[in-house]
Amino acid sequence: MSASLQFYNTLTRRQEPFAPLDPAHVRMYVCGPTVYDFAHIGNARPVVVFDILYRLLRRQYPKVTYARNITDVDDKIIAAAKDSGEPIDAITARTSQAYHEDMTALGALPPDIEPRATGHIAEMIRMIETLIARGNAYVAEGHVLFGVPTMASYGKLSGHSRDELIAGARVEVAPYKRDPADFVLWKPSTAEQPGWDSPWGRGRPGWHIECSAMAEKHLGESFDIHGGGLDLIFPHHENEIAQSECAHGGRPFVRLWMHNGFLTVNGEKMSKSLGNFFTVRDLLDKWPAEAIRLLLMKTHYRAPLDFTEEGLRQARTELDRFYNALRQFDPAGRLYEGAGTLTPPADVMDALADDLNTALALARLHEHANAAFQSAAVAHEPGPQVSALFAGGRMLGLFNQRPEAWFKGTVGGGNSLSEVEIEAQIAARLAARKAKDFKEADRIRDALKAQGVVLEDGPGGTTWRRV
Ligand code: AMP
Ligand code: ZN
Repeated sequence: MSASLQFYNTLTRRQEPFAPLDPAHVRMYVCGPTVYDFAHIGNARPVVVFDILYRLLRRQYPKVTYARNITDVDDKIIAAAKDSGEPIDAITARTSQAYHEDMTALGALPPDIEPRATGHIAEMIRMIETLIARGNAYVAEGHVLFGVPTMASYGKLSGHSRDELIAGARVEVAPYKRDPADFVLWKPSTAEQPGWDSPWGRGRPGWHIECSAMAEKHLGESFDIHGGGLDLIFPHHENEIAQSECAHGGRPFVRLWMHNGFLTVNGEKMSKSLGNFFTVRDLLDKWPAEAIRLLLMKTHYRAPLDFTEEGLRQARTELDRFYNALRQFDPAGRLYEGAGTLTPPADVMDALADDLNTALALARLHEHANAAFQSAAVAHEPGPQVSALFAGGRMLGLFNQRPEAWFKGTVGGGNSLSEVEIEAQIAARLAARKAKDFKEADRIRDALKAQGVVLEDGPGGTTWRRV
Protein backbone atom coordinates (compact mmCIF):
# COMPACT_ATOMS: atom_id res chain seq x y z
CA MET A 1 0.00 0.00 0.00
CA SER A 2 1.36 3.38 -0.82
CA ALA A 3 1.43 6.25 1.64
CA SER A 4 -0.27 9.41 0.40
CA LEU A 5 2.38 12.00 -0.13
CA GLN A 6 2.06 15.56 1.13
CA PHE A 7 4.60 18.32 0.62
CA TYR A 8 4.93 21.96 1.51
CA ASN A 9 4.64 24.08 -1.63
CA THR A 10 6.58 27.36 -1.59
CA LEU A 11 4.25 28.66 -4.32
CA THR A 12 1.00 28.21 -2.37
CA ARG A 13 2.64 28.48 1.08
CA ARG A 14 0.93 25.38 2.39
CA GLN A 15 1.27 21.66 2.59
CA GLU A 16 -0.65 19.89 -0.15
CA PRO A 17 -1.34 16.35 -1.33
CA PHE A 18 1.03 15.44 -4.13
CA ALA A 19 -0.79 14.92 -7.42
CA PRO A 20 1.53 14.38 -10.39
CA LEU A 21 0.46 15.64 -13.81
CA ASP A 22 1.04 12.14 -15.14
CA PRO A 23 1.04 9.44 -12.43
CA ALA A 24 2.76 7.12 -14.89
CA HIS A 25 5.74 9.46 -15.07
CA VAL A 26 6.76 11.88 -12.33
CA ARG A 27 9.22 14.60 -13.37
CA MET A 28 11.43 16.69 -11.14
CA TYR A 29 14.18 19.26 -11.63
CA VAL A 30 16.67 20.40 -9.02
CA CYS A 31 19.14 23.23 -9.54
CA GLY A 32 22.62 21.78 -9.43
CA PRO A 33 26.05 23.22 -8.75
CA THR A 34 27.97 25.98 -10.44
CA VAL A 35 31.23 24.14 -10.99
CA TYR A 36 34.22 26.27 -10.05
CA ASP A 37 35.24 24.87 -6.67
CA PHE A 38 34.70 21.96 -4.29
CA ALA A 39 31.18 21.57 -2.88
CA HIS A 40 30.73 22.54 0.75
CA ILE A 41 28.46 20.71 3.14
CA GLY A 42 25.76 23.39 2.61
CA ASN A 43 25.71 22.50 -1.11
CA ALA A 44 25.29 18.85 -0.12
CA ARG A 45 22.12 19.59 1.82
CA PRO A 46 19.80 19.91 -1.22
CA VAL A 47 21.50 16.91 -2.79
CA VAL A 48 20.69 14.67 0.17
CA VAL A 49 17.21 16.15 0.69
CA PHE A 50 16.17 15.67 -2.94
CA ASP A 51 17.84 12.27 -3.05
CA ILE A 52 15.45 11.14 -0.33
CA LEU A 53 12.53 12.63 -2.22
CA TYR A 54 13.68 10.83 -5.38
CA ARG A 55 13.96 7.52 -3.51
CA LEU A 56 10.49 8.05 -2.03
CA LEU A 57 8.91 8.87 -5.41
CA ARG A 58 10.55 5.84 -7.01
CA ARG A 59 8.88 3.63 -4.43
CA GLN A 60 5.46 5.15 -5.12
CA TYR A 61 5.43 5.70 -8.87
CA PRO A 62 6.36 3.48 -11.83
CA LYS A 63 8.64 6.03 -13.47
CA VAL A 64 10.44 9.08 -12.13
CA THR A 65 12.74 11.34 -14.13
CA TYR A 66 15.06 13.41 -12.00
CA ALA A 67 17.07 16.11 -13.78
CA ARG A 68 19.79 18.07 -12.00
CA ASN A 69 21.83 20.49 -14.06
CA ILE A 70 25.44 21.53 -14.01
CA THR A 71 26.05 25.24 -14.49
CA ASP A 72 29.31 25.31 -16.39
CA VAL A 73 29.12 28.84 -17.77
CA ASP A 74 28.93 31.58 -15.16
CA ASP A 75 30.79 34.72 -14.16
CA LYS A 76 32.09 33.01 -11.00
CA ILE A 77 33.76 30.38 -13.19
CA ILE A 78 35.24 33.06 -15.43
CA ALA A 79 36.59 34.85 -12.35
CA ALA A 80 38.07 31.62 -10.94
CA ALA A 81 39.87 30.97 -14.25
CA LYS A 82 41.25 34.50 -14.27
CA ASP A 83 42.50 34.18 -10.68
CA SER A 84 44.17 30.80 -11.07
CA GLY A 85 45.20 30.78 -14.72
CA GLU A 86 43.60 27.34 -15.14
CA PRO A 87 41.52 27.05 -18.34
CA ILE A 88 37.74 27.17 -17.84
CA ASP A 89 37.20 23.71 -19.35
CA ALA A 90 39.76 22.21 -16.98
CA ILE A 91 38.11 23.87 -13.95
CA THR A 92 34.61 22.72 -14.85
CA ALA A 93 35.71 19.16 -15.73
CA ARG A 94 37.75 18.80 -12.55
CA THR A 95 35.12 20.25 -10.21
CA SER A 96 32.17 18.40 -11.71
CA GLN A 97 34.05 15.13 -11.32
CA ALA A 98 34.86 16.00 -7.71
CA TYR A 99 31.19 16.85 -7.18
CA HIS A 100 30.13 13.44 -8.48
CA GLU A 101 32.64 11.68 -6.26
CA ASP A 102 31.58 13.62 -3.16
CA MET A 103 27.84 13.18 -3.69
CA THR A 104 28.24 9.48 -4.46
CA ALA A 105 30.21 9.11 -1.24
CA LEU A 106 27.27 10.70 0.60
CA GLY A 107 25.00 7.99 -0.79
CA ALA A 108 23.13 10.18 -3.29
CA LEU A 109 21.82 8.34 -6.33
CA PRO A 110 22.84 9.94 -9.61
CA PRO A 111 20.00 11.87 -11.27
CA ASP A 112 18.56 10.35 -14.45
CA ILE A 113 19.65 13.35 -16.49
CA GLU A 114 22.44 15.78 -15.74
CA PRO A 115 22.25 18.49 -18.39
CA ARG A 116 25.14 20.92 -18.78
CA ALA A 117 24.43 24.53 -19.61
CA THR A 118 27.11 24.67 -22.34
CA GLY A 119 25.39 21.76 -24.10
CA HIS A 120 22.10 23.68 -24.36
CA ILE A 121 23.03 27.07 -25.76
CA ALA A 122 20.89 26.53 -28.90
CA GLU A 123 17.83 25.79 -26.72
CA MET A 124 18.47 28.93 -24.68
CA ILE A 125 18.80 31.09 -27.80
CA ARG A 126 15.54 29.64 -29.13
CA MET A 127 13.70 30.40 -25.90
CA ILE A 128 15.05 33.95 -25.84
CA GLU A 129 13.88 34.43 -29.44
CA THR A 130 10.42 33.26 -28.43
CA LEU A 131 10.37 35.72 -25.52
CA ILE A 132 11.36 38.57 -27.84
CA ALA A 133 8.71 37.54 -30.39
CA ARG A 134 6.06 37.47 -27.68
CA GLY A 135 7.01 40.92 -26.45
CA ASN A 136 8.41 39.78 -23.10
CA ALA A 137 12.04 40.54 -23.90
CA TYR A 138 14.01 43.24 -25.72
CA VAL A 139 17.47 43.82 -27.08
CA ALA A 140 19.57 46.67 -25.67
CA GLU A 141 23.27 47.30 -26.23
CA GLY A 142 24.16 43.70 -27.05
CA HIS A 143 22.10 42.44 -24.10
CA VAL A 144 18.72 40.79 -24.14
CA LEU A 145 16.58 41.62 -21.13
CA PHE A 146 13.38 40.19 -19.78
CA GLY A 147 10.86 42.98 -19.30
CA VAL A 148 9.42 42.30 -15.85
CA PRO A 149 6.38 44.62 -16.25
CA THR A 150 5.21 42.43 -19.17
CA MET A 151 4.30 39.68 -16.74
CA ALA A 152 1.38 40.54 -14.49
CA SER A 153 1.93 37.69 -12.05
CA TYR A 154 5.66 38.32 -11.59
CA GLY A 155 6.59 37.81 -7.94
CA LYS A 156 4.08 35.07 -7.17
CA LEU A 157 6.70 32.62 -5.86
CA SER A 158 8.75 34.93 -3.68
CA GLY A 159 5.87 37.19 -2.71
CA HIS A 160 7.88 40.29 -3.59
CA SER A 161 6.02 43.01 -5.45
CA ARG A 162 7.85 44.70 -8.30
CA ASP A 163 7.98 47.97 -6.39
CA GLU A 164 9.57 46.29 -3.39
CA LEU A 165 12.14 44.76 -5.66
CA ILE A 166 13.08 48.08 -7.13
CA ALA A 167 13.17 49.81 -3.75
CA GLY A 168 15.41 47.06 -2.43
CA ALA A 169 17.82 47.13 -5.37
CA ARG A 170 21.17 48.27 -4.03
CA VAL A 171 23.14 47.96 -7.21
CA GLU A 172 23.13 50.80 -9.67
CA VAL A 173 20.65 50.07 -12.43
CA ALA A 174 22.24 49.49 -15.83
CA PRO A 175 21.28 52.35 -18.16
CA TYR A 176 20.08 50.01 -20.92
CA LYS A 177 17.28 48.55 -18.75
CA ARG A 178 13.78 49.80 -19.49
CA ASP A 179 12.69 48.92 -15.98
CA PRO A 180 15.02 48.54 -12.96
CA ALA A 181 13.55 45.07 -12.25
CA ASP A 182 14.39 43.71 -15.72
CA PHE A 183 16.92 40.89 -15.78
CA VAL A 184 19.46 39.58 -18.25
CA LEU A 185 18.74 36.70 -20.63
CA TRP A 186 21.83 37.16 -22.80
CA LYS A 187 24.91 39.31 -22.42
CA PRO A 188 27.86 40.15 -24.64
CA SER A 189 31.23 38.46 -24.12
CA THR A 190 34.63 40.04 -24.66
CA ALA A 191 37.18 38.17 -26.79
CA GLU A 192 38.69 36.49 -23.69
CA GLN A 193 35.35 35.48 -22.20
CA PRO A 194 33.55 32.33 -23.27
CA GLY A 195 30.89 33.14 -25.86
CA TRP A 196 28.64 31.75 -28.55
CA ASP A 197 27.34 33.34 -31.72
CA SER A 198 23.76 34.50 -31.45
CA PRO A 199 21.35 36.83 -33.27
CA TRP A 200 22.51 39.49 -30.76
CA GLY A 201 26.23 39.02 -31.30
CA ARG A 202 28.77 36.84 -29.55
CA GLY A 203 27.76 36.39 -25.96
CA ARG A 204 26.65 34.07 -23.19
CA PRO A 205 23.40 33.27 -21.39
CA GLY A 206 22.22 34.63 -18.07
CA TRP A 207 21.97 32.06 -15.27
CA HIS A 208 18.16 31.90 -15.08
CA ILE A 209 17.53 31.10 -18.75
CA GLU A 210 19.86 28.10 -18.44
CA CYS A 211 17.49 26.26 -16.11
CA SER A 212 14.32 27.24 -18.01
CA ALA A 213 15.75 25.91 -21.28
CA MET A 214 17.21 22.71 -19.82
CA ALA A 215 14.03 21.92 -17.88
CA GLU A 216 11.89 22.43 -21.00
CA LYS A 217 14.13 20.20 -23.10
CA HIS A 218 14.27 17.30 -20.65
CA LEU A 219 11.01 17.50 -18.71
CA GLY A 220 8.61 19.40 -20.98
CA GLU A 221 6.82 22.72 -20.62
CA SER A 222 5.02 21.74 -17.42
CA PHE A 223 6.28 19.30 -14.85
CA ASP A 224 5.75 18.26 -11.25
CA ILE A 225 8.51 19.33 -8.86
CA HIS A 226 11.25 21.92 -8.89
CA GLY A 227 13.68 22.15 -6.01
CA GLY A 228 16.71 23.90 -4.63
CA GLY A 229 17.91 25.85 -1.63
CA LEU A 230 15.96 28.71 -0.08
CA ASP A 231 18.36 31.25 -1.58
CA LEU A 232 17.16 30.31 -5.06
CA ILE A 233 13.53 31.40 -4.56
CA PHE A 234 14.45 34.92 -5.50
CA PRO A 235 15.57 35.87 -8.04
CA HIS A 236 16.49 32.56 -9.69
CA HIS A 237 13.26 30.59 -9.44
CA GLU A 238 11.02 33.63 -9.75
CA ASN A 239 12.79 34.43 -13.02
CA GLU A 240 12.63 30.84 -14.24
CA ILE A 241 8.83 31.00 -13.82
CA ALA A 242 8.67 34.31 -15.70
CA GLN A 243 10.74 33.03 -18.62
CA SER A 244 9.10 29.63 -18.92
CA GLU A 245 5.50 30.73 -18.49
CA CYS A 246 5.86 33.66 -20.88
CA ALA A 247 7.64 31.49 -23.46
CA HIS A 248 4.91 28.86 -23.17
CA GLY A 249 1.92 31.17 -23.59
CA GLY A 250 1.09 31.22 -19.89
CA ARG A 251 1.08 27.47 -19.31
CA PRO A 252 1.97 26.77 -15.67
CA PHE A 253 5.65 25.85 -15.38
CA VAL A 254 5.84 23.82 -12.18
CA ARG A 255 3.22 22.54 -9.78
CA LEU A 256 5.24 22.04 -6.64
CA TRP A 257 8.18 24.18 -5.55
CA MET A 258 10.28 22.75 -2.72
CA HIS A 259 13.13 24.55 -0.98
CA ASN A 260 15.53 23.34 1.66
CA GLY A 261 16.58 25.61 4.52
CA PHE A 262 20.12 26.82 5.05
CA LEU A 263 22.93 24.94 6.61
CA THR A 264 24.48 27.48 8.95
CA VAL A 265 27.60 27.95 11.05
CA ASN A 266 27.00 29.84 14.28
CA GLY A 267 23.67 30.91 12.82
CA GLU A 268 25.13 32.30 9.59
CA LYS A 269 24.53 30.72 6.17
CA MET A 270 27.49 28.61 5.13
CA SER A 271 28.87 30.12 1.95
CA LYS A 272 32.01 30.50 -0.06
CA SER A 273 31.84 34.27 0.15
CA LEU A 274 31.69 34.33 3.97
CA GLY A 275 34.56 31.82 4.14
CA ASN A 276 32.77 29.85 6.88
CA PHE A 277 32.59 26.62 4.92
CA PHE A 278 33.74 23.03 5.25
CA THR A 279 34.14 21.13 2.00
CA VAL A 280 32.50 17.72 1.73
CA ARG A 281 35.92 16.43 0.67
CA ASP A 282 37.66 17.54 3.87
CA LEU A 283 34.85 16.19 6.04
CA LEU A 284 35.00 12.83 4.27
CA ASP A 285 38.67 12.57 5.27
CA LYS A 286 37.75 12.80 8.93
CA TRP A 287 34.28 11.35 9.24
CA PRO A 288 32.37 8.35 7.89
CA ALA A 289 30.22 9.39 4.93
CA GLU A 290 27.08 7.94 6.51
CA ALA A 291 27.55 10.12 9.59
CA ILE A 292 27.57 13.19 7.36
CA ARG A 293 24.46 11.96 5.54
CA LEU A 294 22.71 11.18 8.81
CA LEU A 295 23.52 14.63 10.18
CA LEU A 296 21.86 16.20 7.13
CA MET A 297 18.74 14.09 7.73
CA LYS A 298 18.39 14.75 11.45
CA THR A 299 16.84 18.16 10.85
CA HIS A 300 13.67 18.67 8.84
CA TYR A 301 14.69 19.90 5.40
CA ARG A 302 12.88 23.23 5.69
CA ALA A 303 14.41 24.18 9.05
CA PRO A 304 17.84 25.74 9.44
CA LEU A 305 20.55 23.25 10.35
CA ASP A 306 23.48 24.55 12.38
CA PHE A 307 26.56 22.56 11.48
CA THR A 308 28.99 21.45 14.21
CA GLU A 309 31.54 18.69 14.60
CA GLU A 310 29.71 17.74 17.79
CA GLY A 311 26.64 17.08 15.61
CA LEU A 312 28.74 14.79 13.44
CA ARG A 313 30.03 12.97 16.51
CA GLN A 314 26.46 12.37 17.67
CA ALA A 315 25.43 11.19 14.21
CA ARG A 316 28.28 8.69 14.24
CA THR A 317 27.23 7.45 17.68
CA GLU A 318 23.69 6.89 16.41
CA LEU A 319 25.06 4.85 13.52
CA ASP A 320 27.22 2.86 15.96
CA ARG A 321 24.01 1.93 17.71
CA PHE A 322 22.21 0.95 14.51
CA TYR A 323 25.15 -1.09 13.29
CA ASN A 324 25.44 -2.71 16.71
CA ALA A 325 21.85 -3.90 16.41
CA LEU A 326 22.49 -5.22 12.89
CA ARG A 327 25.68 -6.98 13.99
CA GLN A 328 24.03 -8.51 17.03
CA PHE A 329 20.69 -9.57 15.56
CA ASP A 330 21.71 -10.41 12.01
CA PRO A 331 25.09 -11.99 12.58
CA ALA A 332 25.04 -13.90 9.30
CA GLY A 333 24.21 -10.79 7.23
CA ARG A 334 20.97 -12.30 5.85
CA LEU A 335 19.38 -8.87 5.51
CA TYR A 336 22.22 -7.70 3.32
CA GLU A 337 21.77 -10.70 1.06
CA GLY A 338 18.09 -9.92 0.50
CA ALA A 339 18.60 -6.17 0.23
CA GLY A 340 16.95 -5.91 -3.20
CA THR A 341 13.58 -7.15 -1.98
CA LEU A 342 13.17 -4.98 1.07
CA THR A 343 9.93 -3.31 2.04
CA PRO A 344 10.48 -0.29 4.29
CA PRO A 345 8.30 -0.23 7.39
CA ALA A 346 5.07 1.78 7.19
CA ASP A 347 6.05 4.10 10.05
CA VAL A 348 9.18 5.23 8.22
CA MET A 349 7.26 5.66 4.96
CA ASP A 350 4.52 7.63 6.73
CA ALA A 351 7.10 9.99 8.21
CA LEU A 352 8.64 10.63 4.78
CA ALA A 353 5.23 10.99 3.17
CA ASP A 354 4.52 13.85 5.59
CA ASP A 355 6.62 16.53 3.91
CA LEU A 356 9.76 14.42 4.01
CA ASN A 357 10.03 14.24 7.78
CA THR A 358 13.42 12.56 7.95
CA ALA A 359 13.88 13.48 11.61
CA LEU A 360 10.78 11.45 12.47
CA ALA A 361 11.84 8.62 10.15
CA LEU A 362 15.15 8.40 12.04
CA ALA A 363 13.36 8.44 15.39
CA ARG A 364 11.40 5.46 14.12
CA LEU A 365 14.58 3.64 13.21
CA HIS A 366 15.68 4.16 16.81
CA GLU A 367 12.40 2.70 18.04
CA HIS A 368 12.99 -0.40 15.91
CA ALA A 369 16.55 -0.67 17.22
CA ASN A 370 15.36 -0.27 20.82
CA ALA A 371 12.70 -2.91 20.34
CA ALA A 372 15.29 -5.26 18.86
CA PHE A 373 17.61 -4.73 21.83
CA GLN A 374 14.77 -5.35 24.26
CA SER A 375 13.36 -8.41 22.58
CA ALA A 376 16.37 -10.65 22.15
CA ALA A 377 19.78 -11.09 23.70
CA VAL A 378 21.03 -13.51 21.06
CA ALA A 379 19.46 -14.21 17.70
CA HIS A 380 20.44 -16.26 14.73
CA GLU A 381 17.71 -15.07 12.41
CA PRO A 382 16.91 -11.38 12.11
CA GLY A 383 13.56 -10.64 13.77
CA PRO A 384 10.95 -8.21 12.44
CA GLN A 385 12.33 -5.24 14.37
CA VAL A 386 15.84 -5.51 13.04
CA SER A 387 14.45 -6.18 9.55
CA ALA A 388 12.41 -2.98 9.86
CA LEU A 389 15.49 -1.11 11.04
CA PHE A 390 17.49 -2.33 8.07
CA ALA A 391 14.82 -1.73 5.42
CA GLY A 392 13.98 1.70 6.86
CA GLY A 393 17.66 2.67 6.93
CA ARG A 394 18.15 1.53 3.35
CA MET A 395 15.16 3.63 2.33
CA LEU A 396 17.05 6.62 3.76
CA GLY A 397 20.22 5.67 1.91
CA LEU A 398 21.98 4.26 4.99
CA PHE A 399 23.58 0.88 5.80
CA ASN A 400 25.58 0.73 2.61
CA GLN A 401 28.22 -1.32 4.35
CA ARG A 402 28.23 -4.35 6.61
CA PRO A 403 28.53 -3.77 10.36
CA GLU A 404 32.04 -5.27 10.38
CA ALA A 405 33.16 -2.74 7.79
CA TRP A 406 31.53 0.09 9.73
CA PHE A 407 33.20 -0.87 12.99
CA LYS A 408 36.53 -1.60 11.43
CA GLY A 409 36.41 1.62 9.44
CA THR A 410 39.74 3.34 9.31
CA VAL A 411 38.01 6.70 9.34
CA GLY A 412 38.20 7.50 13.03
CA GLY A 413 36.00 10.53 13.04
CA GLY A 414 37.09 13.80 14.58
CA ASN A 415 39.86 13.43 17.07
CA SER A 416 38.21 10.57 18.87
CA LEU A 417 39.14 6.91 18.99
CA SER A 418 38.39 4.65 16.06
CA GLU A 419 36.49 1.41 16.51
CA VAL A 420 39.71 -0.54 16.00
CA GLU A 421 41.45 1.34 18.78
CA ILE A 422 38.51 0.83 21.12
CA GLU A 423 38.43 -2.91 20.44
CA ALA A 424 42.17 -3.08 21.08
CA GLN A 425 41.76 -1.30 24.42
CA ILE A 426 38.95 -3.67 25.43
CA ALA A 427 41.19 -6.63 24.64
CA ALA A 428 44.02 -5.10 26.69
CA ARG A 429 41.65 -4.58 29.62
CA LEU A 430 40.47 -8.18 29.41
CA ALA A 431 44.07 -9.39 29.46
CA ALA A 432 44.78 -7.22 32.52
CA ARG A 433 41.77 -8.64 34.33
CA LYS A 434 42.81 -12.18 33.53
CA ALA A 435 46.20 -11.37 35.01
CA LYS A 436 44.34 -9.97 38.06
CA ASP A 437 45.80 -6.54 37.39
CA PHE A 438 42.56 -4.76 38.27
CA LYS A 439 44.30 -1.44 38.67
CA GLU A 440 45.40 -1.54 35.03
CA ALA A 441 41.95 -2.78 33.93
CA ASP A 442 40.30 0.16 35.68
CA ARG A 443 42.83 2.57 34.24
CA ILE A 444 41.95 1.43 30.73
CA ARG A 445 38.23 1.73 31.42
CA ASP A 446 38.66 5.24 32.86
CA ALA A 447 40.90 6.29 29.98
CA LEU A 448 38.27 5.18 27.47
CA LYS A 449 35.59 7.00 29.42
CA ALA A 450 37.66 10.17 29.33
CA GLN A 451 37.59 9.81 25.53
CA GLY A 452 33.83 9.39 25.42
CA VAL A 453 33.58 5.60 25.31
CA VAL A 454 31.67 3.74 28.01
CA LEU A 455 32.18 0.01 28.56
CA GLU A 456 29.44 -2.30 29.73
CA ASP A 457 30.26 -5.76 31.03
CA GLY A 458 27.55 -8.33 30.41
CA PRO A 459 27.21 -12.10 30.30
CA GLY A 460 28.13 -12.14 26.60
CA GLY A 461 31.28 -10.05 27.11
CA THR A 462 32.08 -6.36 27.03
CA THR A 463 30.19 -3.99 24.76
CA TRP A 464 30.83 -0.31 24.34
CA ARG A 465 29.08 2.81 23.33
CA ARG A 466 30.00 6.41 22.77
CA VAL A 467 28.53 9.06 25.01
P1 AMP B 1 25.46 26.98 -5.74
O1 AMP B 1 26.52 26.07 -6.31
O2 AMP B 1 25.99 28.02 -4.82
O3 AMP B 1 24.57 27.56 -6.83
O4 AMP B 1 24.51 26.10 -4.81
C1 AMP B 1 24.04 24.83 -5.17
C2 AMP B 1 22.86 24.47 -4.30
O5 AMP B 1 23.24 24.50 -2.92
C3 AMP B 1 21.67 25.41 -4.42
O6 AMP B 1 20.48 24.64 -4.38
C4 AMP B 1 21.78 26.29 -3.18
O7 AMP B 1 20.52 26.76 -2.78
C5 AMP B 1 22.31 25.28 -2.17
N1 AMP B 1 23.02 25.91 -1.04
C6 AMP B 1 24.09 26.74 -1.11
N2 AMP B 1 24.48 27.11 0.14
C7 AMP B 1 23.66 26.48 1.00
C8 AMP B 1 23.57 26.44 2.44
N3 AMP B 1 24.42 27.10 3.24
N4 AMP B 1 22.59 25.68 2.99
C9 AMP B 1 21.73 25.00 2.22
N5 AMP B 1 21.76 24.99 0.87
C10 AMP B 1 22.71 25.73 0.26
ZN1 ZN C 1 18.24 26.62 -11.62
